[in-house]
Amino acid sequence: MATHVPDEELLLALLNSTPVIDGHPEDRLADPAGSASYLRSAGAEIDMDLDTDEHAVLLRARELLQSVVDGAHAPAVLAPLLTGVGSTPHVTGEGIAWSLTTPDGTRTAVRAVLAWDRLARDLPGRLRPCANSDCRLYFVDRSRPGTGRWCSMAVCGNRMKARRHHIRTSGSRTDG
Ligand SMILES: [Zn+2]
Repeated sequence: MATHVPDEELLLALLNSTPVIDGHPEDRLADPAGSASYLRSAGAEIDMDLDTDEHAVLLRARELLQSVVDGAHAPAVLAPLLTGVGSTPHVTGEGIAWSLTTPDGTRTAVRAVLAWDRLARDLPGRLRPCANSDCRLYFVDRSRPGTGRWCSMAVCGNRMKARRHHIRTSGSRTDG
């Protein structure tokens, strides 16, 4: 369950760029100028800062990818993001390497979509939204049984357990 796909950090950083902090939704990509450094700090390989167009495409990709991972939309909604994208083989000393060609301003978004696809193939069903409805984070469940529900057991897992316990105990009081 150690499979790591190329650009997984980029995909996760993108999906997780709208966290809820102390009950308030935040947007780590709100500012085009700060977006590349946010993505880099999350481990994504981003060479250059994002220009306005690339930033806009990336926000669109985020919205669509989040909706697909949430199960709200079928992957078909991602199709417009891949228009004009190509992959070209080059013979190297070891074999064949593929280089990605993307329309101007779409490269970062395309890389995130391709990472989503590789994760869906290599670890089917393991990229999930956190089961805490107050949390807007996504995670890749690499546990052996594949039953992980929380972005973090320490944060959301314990919080939800405490809430269920509270509901149970307050419920029994009503019953009794
Ligand atoms: Zn969570």
